[in-house]
Amino acid sequence: MPDVHIAPQGSAETIEEFSRYVIPNYRRYPVCLVRGEGSWVWDAEGRRYLDFFPGWGCNLLGHCPPRVVEAVRDQVGQLIHVPNTWYMEAQGAFAKALSERSFGGQSFFCNSGAEANEAAIKLARVWGHSKGRFKLITAEGGFHGRTFAALTATAQPKYQEPFQPLVPGFSYVPYDDLGAVARAADGQTAAVLVEPIQGEGGVIVPDENYLPGLRKLCDEKGMLLILDEVQTGMGRTGRWFAYQHFGIEPDILTCAKALAGGIAAGVMMAKPEIAQVLQPGLHASTFGGNPIACRAGLATIETIEEEGLLGRGLAIGGRFRARFESLRAELPDRIRAIRVRGVMIGLDLTFDATGVVSTCLERGLLINATHGHIVRLLPALNLTDDQIDEGCDILADVLREVAR
Ligand SMILES: *Cc1c(COP(=O)(O)O)cnc(C)c1O
Repeated sequence: MPDVHIAPQGSAETIEEFSRYVIPNYRRYPVCLVRGEGSWVWDAEGRRYLDFFPGWGCNLLGHCPPRVVEAVRDQVGQLIHVPNTWYMEAQGAFAKALSERSFGGQSFFCNSGAEANEAAIKLARVWGHSKGRFKLITAEGGFHGRTFAALTATAQPKYQEPFQPLVPGFSYVPYDDLGAVARAADGQTAAVLVEPIQGEGGVIVPDENYLPGLRKLCDEKGMLLILDEVQTGMGRTGRWFAYQHFGIEPDILTCAKALAGGIAAGVMMAKPEIAQVLQPGLHASTFGGNPIACRAGLATIETIEEEGLLGRGLAIGGRFRARFESLRAELPDRIRAIRVRGVMIGLDLTFDATGVVSTCLERGLLINATHGHIVRLLPALNLTDDQIDEGCDILADVLREVAR
């Protein structure tokens, strides 16, 4: 009989179980994580790691943030799930909290980033239906998820190629190029969908006029502006949402990853006049907006506000920047660029970062690499200065050694 308590076992036994029973669609490090607290995680052998990439960006408050743990524990004892054929207090409260911290929109809840983008694309199509507008413009190097429409929006051949043919009606333009969007747009274009900062694409920060320019273009041409804030949203960049740095508002915004402090959740927010076209029967998600996720989301907001973490995120980013600037002065042939927006950090190396990631892992530091040569860090908002220094020391040593 399966043991619901999961008897402790060594990493090797878990890895063996995976090789037999789990589909091998992920490249995994040979480490089994069993426990986490803040920016520390422990593996099955009791080894401790400093996590600069907790939960692939989902654990914005670190592992097991106390208010989220408490809210979830409380909620599972009251009501685990009720479908969206009923009203539930937590969903309404969470939608209100999100609306008040963004652009006064209304929420549709789902369970992941891809689903949130899928909803946004479907909303844009429904909105454009009566106007003969169905096309979407997205940016090269972007990442929007793995479901079919989200994958079609993801203008990266390596993700799309094996799944052709994709969803019709999408066209792709270079990121941070307003002229290209203007040329691609026509009377059949429903929306432009971009990330305010490309995450998976390598922490690419556009020119400060890019988003305002897109906003103006969308207004002039009668198109919707959809921002994918699945990675940048919920405080990652030092504001609740990254668009808030640019003095504009989107028509539709998607968020997931950090939305509920590590509990699976996604949301599409839309201006009420656009959202109202999504009438009953047109779109749905069985688990979307469930009370556990919504309570976790409310606890996430409460934690960020009570602990002043938006400002702390900017300070953390500043400390990382200072460390990396001095490292670049020391290793100018190894570090090409440093990109920091709050706790969204990219270190563009002049060489492949795979060895850097695995050597850091051996030394107890968890980081990520994207596009081969970009070290990406999505640390927690409650990372301490000592932890920053400890991790940066490890990373600096590794970069120095690789440099030799
Ligand atoms: C991770 C990510 C997604 C996909 O989210 P999932 O929850 O994995 O479906 C979409 N857009 C962006 C910008 C992301 O970073």
